[in-house]
Amino acid sequence: MVTAPRVGVLALQGDVREHARVLADLGADVVAVRRPDELAAVDGLVIPGGESSVIDKLARAFGMRHPIREAIADGMPVYGTCAGLILLADRIADGAPGQQTFGGLAVTVRRNAFGSQVDSFEVDLDVEALGGPPVHAAFIRAPLVEEVGPGAEALATLDDGRVVAVRQGALLGTSFHPEVTGERRFHALLLDLVRERVSRTRARDAAG
Ligand code: GLN
Repeated sequence: MVTAPRVGVLALQGDVREHARVLADLGADVVAVRRPDELAAVDGLVIPGGESSVIDKLARAFGMRHPIREAIADGMPVYGTCAGLILLADRIADGAPGQQTFGGLAVTVRRNAFGSQVDSFEVDLDVEALGGPPVHAAFIRAPLVEEVGPGAEALATLDDGRVVAVRQGALLGTSFHPEVTGERRFHALLLDLVRERVSRTRARDAAG
């Protein structure tokens, strides 16, 4: 029997609903995740855009930091957009005082990298890994990936070469917000990674 992939959206702060809608449209069984037991019940996770320092603080207050780090270390597919990308980065160039990340992506990000003059903008990006037409990407007080370390790969760059989408194994991160422009291919890629992981786990369990 083919069951819908169970995917959580970290629902501490940010544009949770937009992600939930895209995932549901793609056929996922979507769960709002605020507590460790809710995280334990999903096979993949989206970390939405919002304010990374707030999500970090709330994650610690809700006892979610360690479970999320463990899930990432265990290979759970996770997709972070904007603030979510910041939270998946191993390093922040200019974090708020005391700001921590979950980590997992061997990258350095800079928050609000386009400055207050350029709060938000939209561009078309070629993303070879997704195939098909360019991605129409909305950047909202977006971070940039300043350094791509070993194991991580750039999936998309701006015309000037600056990196705005990365992947490392089952972790995906984009500076921009596909969930607000009707772009679904990053979420679809996440669901593919979730299905692969679920069938691998099932095969392993069946083999005893
Ligand atoms: N500037 C925000 C941060 O530092 C991210 C903005 C967004 O997610 N749209 O977390």
